[in-house]
Parts: sequence; C-alpha cells; structure tokens
Amino acid sequence: MKLYSTNNKDLRVSFKEAVFNSMPQDKGLYMPVEIPQLDADFIENIDRYSLSDIAYQVASTLLKDEIPADDLKALVEEAINFNAPAVKLDEKTFVLELFHGPSLAFKDFGARFMSRVMAYFLKDGEQLLDVLVATSGDTGGAVALGFLGVPNTRVTILYPEGKVSPIQELQLTTNGANIRAIEVKGTFDDCQALVKQAFADEELNKTFRLTSANSINISRLIPQTFYYFNTYAQLKRQGLNEVIFSVPSGNFGNIGAGLLAYKMGLPVKQFIAATNVNDTVPRYLENGVYETKPSVQTYANAMDVGAPSNWVRIMDLFNQDLATLKEKVVGYRFDDEETLSGIKEIYKKFDYIACPHTAIAYLAIEQYRKDNPKDESAAVFLSTAHPCKFPDIFPKDMANEINIPTQVKALENKPKHADKLGVDFQGFKDYLLSK
Ligand SMILES: *Cc1c(COP(=O)(O)O)cnc(C)c1O
Repeated sequence: MKLYSTNNKDLRVSFKEAVFNSMPQDKGLYMPVEIPQLDADFIENIDRYSLSDIAYQVASTLLKDEIPADDLKALVEEAINFNAPAVKLDEKTFVLELFHGPSLAFKDFGARFMSRVMAYFLKDGEQLLDVLVATSGDTGGAVALGFLGVPNTRVTILYPEGKVSPIQELQLTTNGANIRAIEVKGTFDDCQALVKQAFADEELNKTFRLTSANSINISRLIPQTFYYFNTYAQLKRQGLNEVIFSVPSGNFGNIGAGLLAYKMGLPVKQFIAATNVNDTVPRYLENGVYETKPSVQTYANAMDVGAPSNWVRIMDLFNQDLATLKEKVVGYRFDDEETLSGIKEIYKKFDYIACPHTAIAYLAIEQYRKDNPKDESAAVFLSTAHPCKFPDIFPKDMANEINIPTQVKALENKPKHADKLGVDFQGFKDYLLSK
C-alpha cells in the first residue's frame, strides 16, 4: 500500500513511513493511493467467517505488500483478541458493542493494532520509540493498555487533573512498565499544546524518537474497518442483507473507517453521522458550508470536537463530491437533554444501558426512521464505550445496574502513579530530558 497526502496527491510514502510520521509534513493526511477491493466471493460468503478471519482478510487486502502473510496473521490475532458482538434489541435494531477490549472503548481496535504494527516495524537495535499522547480520557487508556509491554516502546500520557473519570484515571495510572502518566494542572487543550510543542522541539527530536498516537494515524484507521465487515457477517447470518450504520462521531475516524470499508466493497445502505452539539459535519451536510467552531463540553465528551481531524479523509474518499457523499452519509445532532432522554428510552424499551455516545447514535437511527419511513433496512448503532466509564451521567437507579467488567476490577487494587506537572513547556521538556 502506497500512500499520498490529501494535500499532495503526487507524494508517495510506504505504509511504514506513514505509520511513524503519523502526519505528512504538509499537514494533510495520509490516504491509500489505491483502495483495493475485497474479493467478491469473500463478501458473498462472509457469514462463514469469524472476526479473526475477517480481520486478517481485510488487513491482507490492504497490507499484503507491506507485511508477509504469516506475520500479518499473527499480528492481527494478537491485536484483535476480543469480540465485537452485534446485540439484537428488536427485529431490525442492533447495538454493536465495541467495548470488550482492555480499555472498554472502541479505540482499543486502533491502539492495539497500531502498537503492534509499530513494534513490528521497529527492527532489532533501533532506537526506543517514544509515544507522546494527550488525552481527555478514552484515547489515553486505549493507547496505554495497547502499548503496555510492547517491546522497544515507551508511552508518556498527559491528562488534565480532575477532568477524567475514575475508571479512566485507573487505566492511565496503574500500568507501570513502559507506560508513564503525567497529571497536568490544566485542561486537555493545555496537554495537547505541550505535546505539540514537544514534537516541534529540536532538542527533544534529536534526543528521542518521538511519535504520536493520535487518531489520524493510518494504522488506527485500518483495524476499525474490521468490525464493519464483521457486523455485516453477523447480520447476514440472520438473513439481513441491507444494513445502516449509525456512528457516534467526534474526530470522524470511526465513521471514516466505515466509509473506507464501503469503498473496499462492503455493501452498506446508509451511514449516519451522529454528533452532540459539536455539529460541524451535520451542518455541512445540510447547507454545504464547512465551518469549524471551538468545542463545547457535553455529556458525550469523547465527541466534543469542533474541528474533526479525519473529515478531510472522508472528503478525499468521495473526491470532494458533496452530492455523492450526501447520498451515503446523513447527519444528526443531539443536545445533552436529548442524550439523557435517549439513555432512559433505551433502558425502558430494551432494558439496556448505553453510554452517552452510544445513546446519540441510537437517537439518530430513530430520527432517520422518522425521516425515511419506507426504509426497512436493519439498523446498527455503534456502542463506542462501556457505560461504566461515565458514571456521573446516569440516574441513580440505572447507575446501580451497571456491571463493572473484570478488566476494571483488576485495576482497582493496583497503586496509582502519576507525575504531576504544570502547563509550562520548559517543565515538561526538563522532565522528558531527565528520564
Ligand atoms: C473517541 C470516541 C468517539 C469518537 O470517535 P471518532 O473516531 O473520533 O469519531 C465516540 N465515542 C467514544 C466513547 C470515544 O471514545
């Protein structure tokens, strides 16, 4: 797979280069020069295959020239070692649970695959890879647990003091080994500014081999296509061939992967981009004006993004053709009050507890069905995180019903360790250089 930059279609880099660079110098995003098609026979018979088979087949279609078959198979199996069940709520409505990985969020797919791809490309004797990441909660946990114990890598996570949930903090601070957490006296934006400055710092770049682990890395996008194919397989087994996906969206990596899967040959009737009030994309799909805004805090805080970083990838997949894009992707937005009533409605109707992000995707399906009464396709809404990660959102009676998964229970007895820093860059730089 050769890649270009969305800002320079003549550029050619290898997959390995794209993974370690994360972003091209010209600040575009890497995209595959050609989007390979899955074998039509494979799609036709996809219901016979397991998630692991499907993940390998899709990865191989994209990466067979980059990683030899046996290595790729082992890598995929190690990275995707948990399930993604499409749970049936009624005849035509399914919730796709993407939270069965170590950090209880869909970001585990991307982070685990990326960490193993990076480790694979790091040859013996190469310099230690230093991953720097700022997090508002979910990314840091997935990256920490994704890289934990991966040889030749070290991860430094910056998170804002007092602004992540207790379970998220456990996931960031109880790892030890090659993972270190820094609790910053400031906001998420301060954390991000520190990381950005570190990447631009000459001395730090001379001393360390720095890389970022954020959602624009192409190696995070690829594994997120796997579960779209696998969901289609699960529905096909139940005789359902027409499917709609509703994706709770922030930086638009998740839905971007779905659209990549579609472009690789997965039959999908419709995608729904579901957002909170940070609705840059739904507004654009409505009026054709792409206007970013500063982000607004909501209950679905992993989607509090005013300028979605993966959107240019989606425009690139559709050759900047808004009319065609609008046929495949429709957008809806919901505020906090609606989100909370969505959570309660899902509980009442299906006895199911959904996290706020998930509830927004559910509400979008309801709205889509109202707007398109003739469309009888099966609808799948993606559940991007386990509800226990957002305990403060739920009414008491519901909160008491939430099961705490074993992954979390195992962390509760471990000691917390985080180094504390302020928001000044020199302090952060001295910290890095002293280690
Ligand atoms: C990151 C995240 C999202 C948003 O995903 P994008 O790929 O950025 O659109 C939604 N829900 C949860 C729980 C997340 O952690």
